[in-house]
Amino acid sequence: MRPEILNSLFRPVGTLKGVGPRFAKLIEKLAGPLVVDLLWHLPSGLIDRSFTPKIAEAPAGMVATLTVRVDGHAPPLMPRHPYKVRCTDETGVLELVFFRAHADYLQKQLPVGQTVVVSGKVDRFHDTPQISHPDYIGPLESGAGIDKVEPVYPMTAGLAAKTLRKAIHAALDALPELPEWLDGPYQRREGWPDWRTALAAVHRPEDQAGLDPATRERQRLAYDELLANQLALALVRLSQRRQPGRAVKGDGDLRARVLAALPYRLTACQEGALEEIYQDMAAERRMLRLLQGDVGSGKTIVALMAMLNAVEAGHQAALMAPTELLARQHHQSLGELAAAAGLEVALLTGRDKGKARAALLDGLATGTTRLLVGTHALFQEDVAFADLGLAVIDEQHRFGVHQRLQLSAKSRAVDVLVMTATPIPRTLTMTAYGDLDVSRLTEKPPGRQPVKTVTIALDRMEEVVEAVQRRIAEGARAYWVCPLVDESEVIDLAAATERHAVLRERLGERVGLVHGKMKGPDKDAVMADFAAGRLDLLVATTVIEVGVNVPAATVMVIEHAERFGLAQLHQLRGRIGRGAGASTCLMLYEGPLNETAKARLKILRETEDGFVIAEEDLRLRGAGDLLGTKQSGLPGFRLADLAVHADLLATARDDSRLITDRDPDLKSPRGQALRVLLYLFERDAAVRYLRSG
Ligand code: ADP
Ligand code: MG
Repeated sequence: MRPEILNSLFRPVGTLKGVGPRFAKLIEKLAGPLVVDLLWHLPSGLIDRSFTPKIAEAPAGMVATLTVRVDGHAPPLMPRHPYKVRCTDETGVLELVFFRAHADYLQKQLPVGQTVVVSGKVDRFHDTPQISHPDYIGPLESGAGIDKVEPVYPMTAGLAAKTLRKAIHAALDALPELPEWLDGPYQRREGWPDWRTALAAVHRPEDQAGLDPATRERQRLAYDELLANQLALALVRLSQRRQPGRAVKGDGDLRARVLAALPYRLTACQEGALEEIYQDMAAERRMLRLLQGDVGSGKTIVALMAMLNAVEAGHQAALMAPTELLARQHHQSLGELAAAAGLEVALLTGRDKGKARAALLDGLATGTTRLLVGTHALFQEDVAFADLGLAVIDEQHRFGVHQRLQLSAKSRAVDVLVMTATPIPRTLTMTAYGDLDVSRLTEKPPGRQPVKTVTIALDRMEEVVEAVQRRIAEGARAYWVCPLVDESEVIDLAAATERHAVLRERLGERVGLVHGKMKGPDKDAVMADFAAGRLDLLVATTVIEVGVNVPAATVMVIEHAERFGLAQLHQLRGRIGRGAGASTCLMLYEGPLNETAKARLKILRETEDGFVIAEEDLRLRGAGDLLGTKQSGLPGFRLADLAVHADLLATARDDSRLITDRDPDLKSPRGQALRVLLYLFERDAAVRYLRSG
């Protein structure tokens, strides 16, 4: 139950004074449905009305506040012409311009002969200074009623700035006083105000400096949000740790056989990661570990070794993949490796039905099936394991605490190993995986050649097609990636289909097409043709981003590279350069490119190190845009900007660990306040993991 003290913040915005249903809808679209969402909608700029020139000194394009005398009214002579009010001071004439004006109203507001204060942006029309639709008009004596400095908010069409500001003020006026959840000494050291003061201050910046994310007020709010995130993860972690684990320690027999059959030796990184994994598994508690490594860094063999360790100890092991395509690929590659130890790997996907499925489930329930690869279908209720010892979750580019919890609920004492191919920056790893220990594969297996990356303007398409044609004639296999348009699959598909037709005309029959709307078996068939070399060129939408492994492919063309995120381009490119042959990636862009787009393409030309690329991506774009936060499942932040507040995140993590050590059930006064914090940032799911609710 949400603490009552927060109720006023979790009301719909429509309940605020002065916000009718129409504005409520617009505000909802802009900020969110609740009062609290509106409060998190921070100003992005400000208008300074402190500039008070004489008319003759007011430059066009600037916001100015002028004291003028009303000389006369000029109603429009023709419909749709503006209503004009002529004003003067000792230096010149200023026209106030109103379209679709109510004459009565203006005559009352601007009586002839009166001295008034007006504020707004000054323009010049045929050399006459004008202000159209002034933001403020008032009699001289109420001049003080004009806010000298006014916050400017990100807006949406149809919503007036004034209305939004009024709504935010109404929300600020009703702010509850919340108990302090910060550690007292820390708060004092940083000189941070209390929550209410901080929030009111960020909405009333006094100058440009007040908008800086490094002000005390903004820092405090950012810290609150990060603390809620980290505390929630720490509570999840704690509840997992409280569940019993068991020591899993195989005799090494199966692993030795697989290793002996490998055509290579494990890298030091792989050995190191395995060392950590074996130690976790051998401990009496549950393993919760993240294996983070770029595409092609060799995670598969590490996962298999861990799985074999469980099997040697008499348990079952399962690997879950995010897509059907990936599950099949894992099934195949694990199957080939495990064969050396005389083991089979079963595959369970949503496609299995009837008898085949029943037999599969039987094998799992009786324990005759020791190794399983599957999709999300693993979560279905009728899937029961005799004795699941290890769950490996390959998240690729999606992140979900939720799924991790679901799978580990499948059996008592399951060790969990999460794999991700997205080399996200350390700070983001912390926000998404703060509950996990981390092993990183930072070096690539030896023998791989770097991918040569070239950026080319789109209007040189013809040369690109010829180059691809040449490479294919020399025996290469190539991907042709079509861009994401508008996030609309229909349009994407049309673009890819058209490109496919064109290339087929140019290059002949051996050009295939694969996209997200294809049925599973059809997709598999095309992929298999490409892998087997029956197709030379594969036109694809971004479906190939996730997991496809065709080492013989050495060329990739990416159309409209400027429309992809940096991380996404990196993932795509990771599909080539997997074999021994030299690979080339052609990134086609449509100019002119803005500075950020230029910088992004430059980084890709310069490095293939996913961790470096990820840090740069964070620097260039800010965390919000990384990977497209929404799809990725990464937590989005409203108040914290990880490009700026990264150090606060580390503190929030340490703070959270201390809290869960000292007051694991959040019972102390500070613990109670922290519960309010979790609810405030809608991390209340974590409260369920507290022993006492
Ligand atoms: P990931 O799953 O991390 O993307 P994979 O596990 O598919 O990467 O490995 C990529 C390629 O590298 C595979 O072809 C694999 O056989 C090979 N590989 C893995 N480890 C090594 C190693 N230590 N030495 C040489 N090649 C390796
Ligand atoms: Mg264990």
